[in-house]
Amino acid sequence: MKETKRNVEKDAPMKKNDLIVITGAGGFIAGNLALYFSKKGFTNIRAVDKKPISEWYLHVPGVQNLCLDVSEAGNCHRVCEGAVEVYNLAADMGGMGFIERFRVECLRSILINTHMVEAAYKAGARRYFYSSSACAYNTLLQQDPNVRALKESDAYPAMAERGYGWEKLVSEMFCQEYWHERGMKTFIARFHNVYGPHGTWDGGREKAPAAICRKVIEGIDKKDLNIMIWGNGDQTRSFMYIDDCVKGIDMITHCDDLIATPINLGSSELVSINTLVSKIEKIAGVKMKRSYDLAAPQGVAGRNSDNTFIKKVLKWEPGTTLDKGLAETYKWIKSQYEKRKKGERVGIG
Ligand code: NAD
Repeated sequence: MKETKRNVEKDAPMKKNDLIVITGAGGFIAGNLALYFSKKGFTNIRAVDKKPISEWYLHVPGVQNLCLDVSEAGNCHRVCEGAVEVYNLAADMGGMGFIERFRVECLRSILINTHMVEAAYKAGARRYFYSSSACAYNTLLQQDPNVRALKESDAYPAMAERGYGWEKLVSEMFCQEYWHERGMKTFIARFHNVYGPHGTWDGGREKAPAAICRKVIEGIDKKDLNIMIWGNGDQTRSFMYIDDCVKGIDMITHCDDLIATPINLGSSELVSINTLVSKIEKIAGVKMKRSYDLAAPQGVAGRNSDNTFIKKVLKWEPGTTLDKGLAETYKWIKSQYEKRKKGERVGIG
């Protein structure tokens, strides 16, 4: 079917007291996004998560924190009331260990975006951002560690990651149709592994960089320098530092050339998991004795972000090196580990 092209009308610039709604803000990326907008001078930010507020990673001063489940339509309407911009990052998700084991939970996140995008539309929000994932890409293209970087068109023909990836792909489609059929400006970023401070580092939902940092810190603390690596360690990934992620979300959401157009938001620095371990060992100043759990969840063999499109449209790409970002992340996880050891409260994933 041929698409009728919509006219893109220029909207008024955001005022500092315009309402920004951010869901999933008790979690990693959305929490950091609330902090980012607050530091930019926005004074009317509503942060929402279903986790009890005491368990959020970040409590940003001046931000209104709400504990609500946005898989329920009524809550979404309440949350979006008066919103000028909506950033929907809430999802039931985690690292490979979580998304391979809990596919039903991942699929059920479809309710979140379905209700949030409708509520944002009904509330008359000007811009709506949706956090998709590289897991939406065709898995058949990711069977070799020496992977060709994924470009945006590689999502179709579709063969997304079971559960989580399909939910992302269908939610993307919802967002695209809210623009094409209804005229709400929607923006979709496909994140490639994000890491950094104020995110999940223990408990089963954490991703490789945080998990390896924690295992090394724990090993040093318990004087047991053995580390178990999931898979043979040759699987490759790229990892984007959180500061690049929040800046990218802002740039994408305010670029009218990207309306209803999924775009990669990721680093193109490809490393194997073994290299990732070596980098963290170097930061910690130790050498671990590695063993490999070949039966553990490990996802696709290789995945990288092709940044041709983002460089063309935004003249920018995530640029924080893994060495720099990991040093910050290691420092933060170590502080959390020590806090918890002393019996102090830390954020929960
Ligand atoms: P996270 O788990 O730290 O944060 C997600 C938050 O959503 C959690 O705090 C959770 O409690 C909340 N949530 C879940 N269901 C909810 C509901 N029904 N109502 C309200 N809150 C709910 O995850 P994150 O890493 O910050 O990821 C944020 C978004 O980015 C997600 O959509 C995720 O799929 C996407 N993403 C993340 C990565 C990554 O590497 N972290 C990669 C690709 C995509």
